[in-house]
Amino acid sequence: MNRPHPNADVRMRGFVSRATVDEALAWLNGQVQTLPAEKIALSDAVGRVLAVDVVSQFDVPGFDRAMMDGYAVVAADTQGASPYNPLPLTVLGTALPGQPFLGSVAPGQAVRVMTGAPMPDGADAVLPAEVTELDGPRLIAQADVPPGRHVGFQAEDIRRNALLLPAGRELRPQDLGVLSSVGVAEVSVVRRPTVRIVATGNELLPAGSAPHGYHITDANTPMLRALAVRDGGQMLSAEIVPDQRERILAAIRQPCDVLLVSGGSSVGQEDHVPTLVAEHGELAIHGIAMRPSSPTGLGKLGPALVMLLPGNPVSCLCAYDFFAGRAIRMLGGRNPDWPYRRARLPLARKLVSTVGRVDYARVTLAGGQIEPVSISGASVLSSTTRADGFVIVPGDSEGYAAGSAVEVFLYD
Ligand code: AMP
Ligand code: MG
Repeated sequence: MNRPHPNADVRMRGFVSRATVDEALAWLNGQVQTLPAEKIALSDAVGRVLAVDVVSQFDVPGFDRAMMDGYAVVAADTQGASPYNPLPLTVLGTALPGQPFLGSVAPGQAVRVMTGAPMPDGADAVLPAEVTELDGPRLIAQADVPPGRHVGFQAEDIRRNALLLPAGRELRPQDLGVLSSVGVAEVSVVRRPTVRIVATGNELLPAGSAPHGYHITDANTPMLRALAVRDGGQMLSAEIVPDQRERILAAIRQPCDVLLVSGGSSVGQEDHVPTLVAEHGELAIHGIAMRPSSPTGLGKLGPALVMLLPGNPVSCLCAYDFFAGRAIRMLGGRNPDWPYRRARLPLARKLVSTVGRVDYARVTLAGGQIEPVSISGASVLSSTTRADGFVIVPGDSEGYAAGSAVEVFLYD
């Protein structure tokens, strides 16, 4: 593995050797552990990751209840009832949701029930209102019902002591509904990894400003922020700093779980970040055999994971997706794998790659085929906007022939 000597100034000497993507991922996997749990209100828990199994303390529903508007009856009593064989019943009273009927139902009797009302004692089925008629005080049943018909039984939805949701579950809106139904007000979730973005470059203007002169507007901060939020990160700050050692050091020393530094990650004269990380922490990986993003670095500053992402926006996106996104998802207890849908489709043209490095090739889809985007430059951010997704060509591959079926990751 490519481990620079601490304090080594690698600037302007080029990368002597590059780590493989697998080596970089192995280092990362060794560093990252799921963060500890925290308790939060259920109402804030959508999208969060459950830290523990949730077991229901209750049956849902907690009682047998009517599932239709109609009449609670003794099912056996109704056998043979039809429009030609009407069965008269005496209505004893009414049960409403939240308001039980306190008596008991015997053959020849019925209790009016609304959907959700507790089933009265003695009744074991609901005769829907549509198959009855009222004849003065008498109810006329015109159909029969088997036992249990239109009754929702205690615990048929959720049984007490049953596993409701497993640890690791990314909570969906309907999960919050289920948790609430068993009386859960607070949930134990994995703490969100905190993220800071430091965009380096004397040439950078703040996101949203019009580019002018020899300045360019920061493209990486808005992109990285959205990516980090997508992966469950909690943004603490994002700032632009000029290419000055002291300014960069002050910015990267702010505490967080994951520090995303954009720009200045390579071996140029203005690339201070690798040296600073090596001096003040650990620069474990610097230079990775991949394209784009070869000037990527991974390291630690105190407890923070530091991702040295190339300033070229395409490289920045690619390096984020290969390493930083994975780390943020793992810290947050999420699936580390690519967060993109996959498809296997034939290539419209050949896709060439160099043996010895991993390629992240932007592609479009047309007519069920994969079309490589011809721009290869890492600086062409619009190539990722034009692309529908990307194909990863492994390090040991020269690429793929036209017509071969390959796996494509889709941005949407
Ligand atoms: P660097 O990685 O700092 O050597 O930058 C490589 C290229 O990416 C240069 O052309 C920079 O101007 C450009 N660049 C650096 N940071 C950003 C950024 N935040 N947004 C857009 N382009 C950038
Ligand atoms: Mg720069």
